Amino acid sequence: MNFDDTPAQARFRAEARAWLDANAPHELAEDIQNAVYGSFKLKSADIIAASKAWAKKKAQAGWACLNWPKEYGGRGASPIERVIWQQEEGIFTFLNTLFIVGHGMCAPTLIAHASEADRRHLLPRMAAGDDVWCQLFSEPAAGSDLAGLRTKATRDGEDWIINGQKIWTSFAQYADYGIILTRTDPSVPKHRGLTMFFIDMRSPGVEVRPIRQANGMSSFNEVFFTDVRIPDSQRLGAAGNGWNVSLTTLMNERLSIGGTISTGFEWLFDFCCRFDTGDGLAVDDPAIRSRLANWATVASGLKYTGYRAISALSRGETPGPENSIGKLVAGTMLQQIAAFAMELQGQAGILTDPALAPDAAHAQFMMLRAPAARLEGGTDEILRNIIAERVLGLPPDIRVDKNIPFNQLPAASA
Ligand SMILES: Cc1cc2nc3c(=O)[nH]c(=O)nc-3n(C[C@H](O)[C@H](O)[C@H](O)COP(=O)(O)OP(=O)(O)OC[C@H]3O[C@@H](n4cnc5c(N)ncnc54)[C@H](O)[C@@H]3O)c2cc1C
Repeated sequence: MNFDDTPAQARFRAEARAWLDANAPHELAEDIQNAVYGSFKLKSADIIAASKAWAKKKAQAGWACLNWPKEYGGRGASPIERVIWQQEEGIFTFLNTLFIVGHGMCAPTLIAHASEADRRHLLPRMAAGDDVWCQLFSEPAAGSDLAGLRTKATRDGEDWIINGQKIWTSFAQYADYGIILTRTDPSVPKHRGLTMFFIDMRSPGVEVRPIRQANGMSSFNEVFFTDVRIPDSQRLGAAGNGWNVSLTTLMNERLSIGGTISTGFEWLFDFCCRFDTGDGLAVDDPAIRSRLANWATVASGLKYTGYRAISALSRGETPGPENSIGKLVAGTMLQQIAAFAMELQGQAGILTDPALAPDAAHAQFMMLRAPAARLEGGTDEILRNIIAERVLGLPPDIRVDKNIPFNQLPAASA
């Protein structure tokens, strides 16, 4: 692996850096840097307005959604140029959080399965932050077993009528549109009776109820659908082919989430260099040094596993199921690091007010957000199944309901 930029990449990096120096919202930098882990707010500005303004500015200058085709609002850049841009965008990537689902998951699905007219209308608006998108897949009884979902879409002339409930829908309270996976034929086995649509979140009959999380945020929601009417022209892929369409979304979900989960190690190391245990700096304590050394080794393994994916991209390949390793390891490490940082601070570790005790608050928020990292985009167990089956070639999980019509499964009629 050669990590140096080629001359063309170095020129691209310099151009990106110069534009960012002149145009990034530097006035928000300190605020972003001080945001506690997993929070989605700023002290000095409204996060939604700031996120949309940054997306718009990038789109107007040709720096939005770099790897999308130009006619859809992108720049037609190579995947490697996109990685270089993300490295240079640095802390300002915080302002892209609102668009992760749209840009990372909904857009690739629309590019692969929407009509050309819809792609040309919807994607430039999404790139410019005019529209926020959400992913309406998971339900109370369908997460890992997504194909077990029950939200129904019934054909009515040129329309479909949607009834049911989704849950865990990130940013639905801000969303203008969503992609929704529904059951259109319960008389065939579960993977074969699904159909995907895109939906206007302001349609009559859509109700979004934010869920308050342990960290006080509401980044995901329940969404209820009561007789929501959508035109057949908003169908993505053929009726009954929704499972295959959803695979485009899920493959991109793992790629976009996997690369963004922080392990918390950089913060922990910096904290240990500042924190006085009463017996000197934490970083000088041999027992703490040993823990830090172990985590440094894992962090470095993750870094080089990430570089493998970048190398695959630079060769024009799509990173494969081995990418599940990154999220699996990073999620667990984040939780361990948060617990260790809280423990290290003794009683002070329970403080949650960032103004009073910034490090204790940071560790607390990390601790409260970490379990989500082990669920979103595939739970640890599901990722282990993927690694076992698709990387190591071990025998597959037993799937007893695969060939049984959905309406004959005991749970489906409950
Ligand atoms: C922060 C966050 C944001 C999310 N955002 C979205 C979103 O925007 N849109 C959306 O549609 N969904 C979203 N999700 C949902 C996410 O995809 C699901 O939580 C995830 O797929 C797990 O499903 P579940 O919660 O129903 O758990 P379940 O599938 O019910 O799993 C429960 C437990 O059983 C284990 N398990 C299940 N099946 C197996 C198996 N075959 N082998 C071994 N163990 C198994 C799981 O690992 C887990 O420990 C989000 C989740 C989180 C945490």
